[in-house]
Amino acid sequence: MIKEEVKIVEVGPRDGLQNEKVILPIETKIELIDLLVDAGFTTIEPTSFVRPEYIPQMADSKTLFSSILKHEDIVFPALVPNKRGFLNSLDAGAKWIAIFTATSNTFNKKNTNATIDESLKRFDEFVPDAIKEGQTVRGYISTVFGCPYEGETSIDEMLRLCEKLISFGVNEISLGDTIGVANPNQVQVIIQRLKEHFDLSMMAMHFHDTEGMPLANILASYQEGIRIFDSSVAGLGGCPYAKGASGNVASDDVINMFHKMNIKTGIDQDKLHKASRFILKALGKEGSSKFFQANEGRKS
Ligand code: MG
Repeated sequence: MIKEEVKIVEVGPRDGLQNEKVILPIETKIELIDLLVDAGFTTIEPTSFVRPEYIPQMADSKTLFSSILKHEDIVFPALVPNKRGFLNSLDAGAKWIAIFTATSNTFNKKNTNATIDESLKRFDEFVPDAIKEGQTVRGYISTVFGCPYEGETSIDEMLRLCEKLISFGVNEISLGDTIGVANPNQVQVIIQRLKEHFDLSMMAMHFHDTEGMPLANILASYQEGIRIFDSSVAGLGGCPYAKGASGNVASDDVINMFHKMNIKTGIDQDKLHKASRFILKALGKEGSSKFFQANEGRKS
C-alpha cells in the first residue's frame, strides 16, 4: 500500500549555511531553527561539530545546541567527522549524530582527508560508543550520482557502504547527489539496486539543484518507494564544485510539489515561507526556490 506521506529532513541550518559566505550571529541561527520547528519540521540538521578553523560558520555549535534542546520532540542530527566531534556532540547533549563518507576515494580524501576505508576505520573509533551512549546515527554517502573528480561512481561501492553503515548500527542512510548531476533514469536504476538488498524505509535522498533537475529526481525516487528527502529552507547553500550554482534543493519547492500531489509532509507552507523570508533577508540574497519567489511575488 502506498503511504501518502513523506518525511522532509531540513538541512538548511547546517548543510545550507555551511556553504554560505555570510557568517551569521548565533541568534539568527536559533531564530531560523525556531521558525522551522514552528513550520512543522520534525528533523532538522542544526550544526556540525567540526574544527572551527575549517568551517567558521559552525564554530558556535555547542552554544547553539544548548539553545535548541528546548525543542524536546525534534530530532537534531549533528554532523560529526570523527571521535573528537562525537565527544563534543555528546558533551553538547546531541541525541542524534550524522556521519559521512562517499563512493569516491578522491572526493572523500579532499573532503575528509581520508580514503573511503579510512573513513570506515574512523567510524569504528566512535560509532559503537555513540550507540552505547544512546545516540541515534544517520549516515551520509556522498557522490552516489557522480563525483567532481572521478566522474561516474560505482553502485556496488554504494551498496557496500550501505551494508557497512548498517553493520555499525546506522538507522537512516542519506544518498547524496553532491554535485547535482543526477537524472531520473539514473535515480530509478540506483533505487532498484538498493531495493534488492535493503529496506527502503531507512533510505533518504539528498538532491542538489545544480542543473534544475532535483524535483524530477525526487519524483522518480518517490515513485520507486523512497519516503525521506533532505532539503534546505529557501535552497540555502551554494555548490563548492560549480561556482555560481545553487545548492540543496529548496524545501519550499519540494513541499509545494508534494502538497499539490496530495502527499502529506506535515509542513505549514505559510510558516515555511516566513522562515525562508527571514533567512534570505539575513543573508542578503534571493534564494533559488521558484515557489518562494512566485509566492513572494503574489504577496507583494
Ligand atoms: Mg547538500
